[in-house]
Amino acid sequence: MSEKKKKKLISVVVPVYNEEAVLSETSKRLKQSMETCGYDYEILWVNDGSKDQTLAMARELCEKDKHFKLISFSRNFGHQIAITAGMDFSLGDAVVIIDADLQDPPAVILDMIQKWDEGYEVVYGKRLKRSGETFFKKFTAKVFYRFINMMTEVDMPVDVGDFRLIDRKVVDALKLVNERQRYVRGIIAWLGFKTTAVEYNRDKRFAGETKYPLKKMIKFALDAITSFSYKPLRLATYMGLIVSFFSFVYLLVVLFQGWFTDTTVPGWASSMAVILIFNGIILMILGVIGEYIGRIYDEVKGRPLYLVSYSENLSEKQKGQLLQR
Ligand code: UDP
Ligand code: MG
Repeated sequence: MSEKKKKKLISVVVPVYNEEAVLSETSKRLKQSMETCGYDYEILWVNDGSKDQTLAMARELCEKDKHFKLISFSRNFGHQIAITAGMDFSLGDAVVIIDADLQDPPAVILDMIQKWDEGYEVVYGKRLKRSGETFFKKFTAKVFYRFINMMTEVDMPVDVGDFRLIDRKVVDALKLVNERQRYVRGIIAWLGFKTTAVEYNRDKRFAGETKYPLKKMIKFALDAITSFSYKPLRLATYMGLIVSFFSFVYLLVVLFQGWFTDTTVPGWASSMAVILIFNGIILMILGVIGEYIGRIYDEVKGRPLYLVSYSENLSEKQKGQLLQR
């Protein structure tokens, strides 16, 4: 190993939310992989407001081993914000984002580093198989990735999560993206840079339960679509136009009947049908508009993206970051 190579630092960012069941195994496996990578490393836990023993366990790890670092949020801010914070605080020449539950095998990081050595600036993990996940999860994920690709102008790789390595250049570019609403993998795709993939089989969760219940999945999907696409608004316009056209045609029929025929009022069913259809469409379109307005509201308020209430083993430079964002 050359002297120059030794000096480079890799940061591993691990968001954790109620992960007491996996933390010690994950720390072991991560350390194992990072010890063999040939670079210096830091493993940065981002505690996203856990309510179990996660924080205490992470603190203990930090006390025993200075490779481990910790920032702890004042409450649960969500996975995407946790990884954003992790990248903000990271110091590495490259940063790896990985889930805490060992669904993304730490050994794959070594393949990613190899690609980075070859000069790639973004190396994402592409899931070949996903074992141990419900049919519902796999199905919704598959549909989601294809749908979002259809809805957006940015070319987003399909079946790719947040498990990836990104170069310092990309991390710095990412810091320029200030939006509150964060679909991180989309933003990274939008940034561009020299990108490649490594393929891997996604394992089942090592222990514990998923921290992405349906409610969070829906919010995640809506964030992803609304932050990268106006198409829902445009579709609403088209739908409005088409429906208006048919209504106009029907209006002519109604007027004709009223003026030139003596057909009386047999039309309760048809009136009801029109009212119901229209009300449905109008409410739906209002909902779509509301989704965007709500997000504009969030952006305009400009509140901090996250608040850190506790940290461990941070360097002076990293402590400076505590007042940012
Ligand atoms: N996570 C988080 N905050 C949340 C939800 C999840 O930091 O509000 C973390 C979680 O601890 C894990 C990662 O995000 O490290 C992915 O979550 P999970 O494995 O539960 O999601 P799934 O793989 O089921 O989609
Ligand atoms: Mg998982």
